[in-house]
Amino acid sequence: MAKIGMIQLCGCSGCHISLLDLHDQLLDLIPNIEIVYAPIIADPKEIPDGIDVFLVEGGVRNEHDEHLLEEIREKSKIVVAFGTCAAYGGIPGLGNLYTKEDLLNTVYSTDTTENKEIPNEEIPELTEVVKPISHVIKVDYILPGCPPCPNIIKDALLAILNGEEPKIPQKIVCDE
Ligand code: SF4
Repeated sequence: MAKIGMIQLCGCSGCHISLLDLHDQLLDLIPNIEIVYAPIIADPKEIPDGIDVFLVEGGVRNEHDEHLLEEIREKSKIVVAFGTCAAYGGIPGLGNLYTKEDLLNTVYSTDTTENKEIPNEEIPELTEVVKPISHVIKVDYILPGCPPCPNIIKDALLAILNGEEPKIPQKIVCDE
């Protein structure tokens, strides 16, 4: 049984939801996998060793994301950029039109609570830009789409688990 890890970095959870949108077709996957790390489902403290396939949703927006990716790479045989944000930066990449200082000032100057100061403790430092995960670690496969279509996720995962090359369409129109 393959050990699967899943994580959300700078993304919206939509890619995870697309996987859940497989509904009863999840039964095609479940007998083959054991999800051993998935903070969106549970809250494990440590990423375990020996993960077979790690699905990374979201791009890199802060230094904590970078550290997590390095650990994921070290502990995983196959890393998949899961969705457009992880593959290319995606919608959060629009933040690259501005400096991180502009982004922080905009967010906190429109805060309606009394505490309007930009937090500077226990908050990971933002990276200068939003990056695809491949700018930080080696990525084995890219599953594009915002989010990737459920069937494409299933077919790609089954292929990877069988040791085959996943067939990733060059053009995708999601009608599900
Ligand atoms: Fe959300 Fe789309 Fe990014 Fe997935 S690729 S995390 S659905 S914005």
